[in-house]
Parts: sequence; structure tokens; C-alpha cells
Amino acid sequence: MTSYKIAVVNGDGIGHEIVPMGVEVLKAAAEKFGFDLDTTEYAYGAGYYLEHGDFMAETGLEDLKNFDGILFGAVGLPAVDDTLPFKLFTNKVRTAFKQYVNYRPVKLLDGIDSPLRTKTQKDIDFVVIRENNEGEFVQNGRQMYPDEPYGFATDTSLFTRPGIERIAHYAFKLAQKRRKKVTNVTKSNTMINTLAYWDRVIAEVAEHYPDVQYGKMYIDAATANFVLRPELFDVVLTTNMLGDILSDLGGAIMGSLGFGPSGNINPEKNFPSMFEPIHGSAPDIAGKGIANPIGQIWSGAIMLEHIGETAAAEAIVKAINATTAQGILTGDAGGKNSTTEVAQAIIENLKG
Ligand code: ATP
Ligand code: MG
Repeated sequence: MTSYKIAVVNGDGIGHEIVPMGVEVLKAAAEKFGFDLDTTEYAYGAGYYLEHGDFMAETGLEDLKNFDGILFGAVGLPAVDDTLPFKLFTNKVRTAFKQYVNYRPVKLLDGIDSPLRTKTQKDIDFVVIRENNEGEFVQNGRQMYPDEPYGFATDTSLFTRPGIERIAHYAFKLAQKRRKKVTNVTKSNTMINTLAYWDRVIAEVAEHYPDVQYGKMYIDAATANFVLRPELFDVVLTTNMLGDILSDLGGAIMGSLGFGPSGNINPEKNFPSMFEPIHGSAPDIAGKGIANPIGQIWSGAIMLEHIGETAAAEAIVKAINATTAQGILTGDAGGKNSTTEVAQAIIENLKG
């Protein structure tokens, strides 16, 4: 039997409630589809930082390197200043393991109403591909004399040709498997160096994919169109910061942030990829058993797809849809069920 080594990192807050549900669903899928998941837990995150002064062990990256995949919850606690070494765990893993693709499906699940009341399932079905390793989030800058009248601060973003080319190729190849449309979301009309270069390199890559319809949209127009005309989108290709913002909006139009899944993907598979819901650790609802586990469980399905267990991945997504169609939902999605009840229903639907 094929066996996969999976690292499990709950992180903080609701991570402790939803990640174990994700693992249970994955194990049920493994049993049904005849493969084995060998899981190892790591207690990294903001809680770990409070105890050890760092978000992960010194050997953390070395240890995680040998896994086939990392299932991750979310990092963050109110007691840990998040402007400190900002979410170091996530950033470290994303860069060290060259997870340069952030893959975020935006798809309305069965039986769920979008807050966009005129929009149906056929209108909301696209993927945000967010550049995950460079751009605005390289944390290259400084604050000088912050308490003085002449204080100032800088952040320099970084865009490289190879970095833009690889994310663009990923997006166009993905579009070839979907509805063959890539929308580059940019702001090159004001970011006239970095984002103009981003646009130029993407347009060059687009020439290699004549079968894919390519277009460019400014972020301000794109945010409006996510709400007014989501049907315009198939693959949305965008930068690290713009993608961060857009994918929360994507989660919102799916009916809840708690539904949104994501993969931090290393397409070459020379390092493990990491799969996490798009939301954060939600300290305001942690410990209450009411967090929506679907974004987490769906992220696990994306992990299975990435490691090659496509049938099992599809079965999980189908079981999620069957469950939402039955109206078994947590409070954020307008239901009354608990985290465990939603996860158990997904497992029942998966077993069929
Ligand atoms: P981050 O900076 O890590 O992205 P955030 O500050 O954006 O975190 P989240 O933790 O994502 O905040 O929470 C935003 C809101 O959404 C909170 O009110 C939270 O309770 C709610 N929320 C987030 N995830 C879930 C979930 N899985 N189920 C229910 N509600 C959720
Ligand atoms: Mg957020």
C-alpha cells in the first residue's frame, strides 16, 4: 500500500479544533481509496513562540523537509504582536520550500447562498493564483526615528523575472485545464516600475499560450468585479499582497471566510507543499467548538490532489458539497451545527 508522510501543524486558536477534523477526513479517504497516511504532529505557531521565543524549532525546516505534505491550520494569538516577526512560521516554510504558488479556489458550494444575491453557482467558480515568495511581502525595509517629527518608514517590494515567469507559467497551464482564461490583476498604472515589469513579463509568457485568453485588470476594478461580475473570472493571476486581499474577498463571496481553502504549492515537488485554510486563527471564537472546518478539510483535499490521490481528493470535495447541500453548517455559514458535527457529516457522506 502506498504510504504518504504528512506533517500536521495545528498552529493556534481554532487550528486546534479544525486541523484534527481535517486529519480525520483525510484518514477516512485514505481508508476508502486504499492508501496510508503516516502523520506526525508539530506544535509550532504563536503558542510555541510564547514558550520558546521562536515560531518553530531550530531544526524545524530540516524536519519538515522530508514530508510529502504539510497540513496546517493558522498562526496567531492576541498575546503575540503580529507586526513582530510577522507570522514567521508561514513565511519561513513558504520561502524555504519554494512554495511560490498560492492556489486559492473560489467556488460556491452546493446549497450555499452567496451574499451576492443575484449570483449562482455557475457565476462563482474561479481560482486566485497568488505569487507567494516575493513581491510586496519580502519584508525589506525599515522604520527610522519612528518617535521623531522626521520619522520615516520604507518597504521595498521585489519582483524578479524568474519569479514572475514561473508563477505565470503555472497560471496559464492551470487555465488550459479550466476555462482557458487568465486575468492578471495588477496596479501598474501607479506602481510604474515593479508592476509594469510584472505585466510585461506576464504578457511575454502569455504568448506561449495562444489557446488561453489573456487580459489585465487593475486591482480597484477587480475588487468591484469580484462582487458585481464574478463570472468574468477563471484564473486570476496576481501578486502576493493583492492576492492576499482578493482571496479574503473570494472567501466572503463564497458565503464565509471559513469555506476558503488554499495550497502553498511547490510545483516541482522538490520540497513539500503546505495546505491551509485562507482564514486566520480566529481567536474570538477559539475553544467554542463552532469554527467552520470546511476550509481546512477542503485544503486537505487539495493536498491529496497534489500528491497524486486525485480520486480521493474529488471524493472529499463531493462529500463537502453533499454536506452543505444537506444544510449541515456552522454559524458563520448560517447554520447551527458544531465543528465536529459538520466534519462527521462529511465523513459519513464520504463513506457513502
Ligand atoms: P489573519 O491575519 O491570520 O488572516 P485575520 O485577522 O484576518 O487573521 P481571521 O482569524 O481570519 O482574522 O478571522 C476573521 C473573522 O472571521 C473572525 O471574526 C473569525 O471569527 C471569523 N472566522 C475565521 N475563520 C473562521 C472559521 N473557520 N469559522 C468561523 N468563523 C471564522
Ligand atoms: Mg486575514
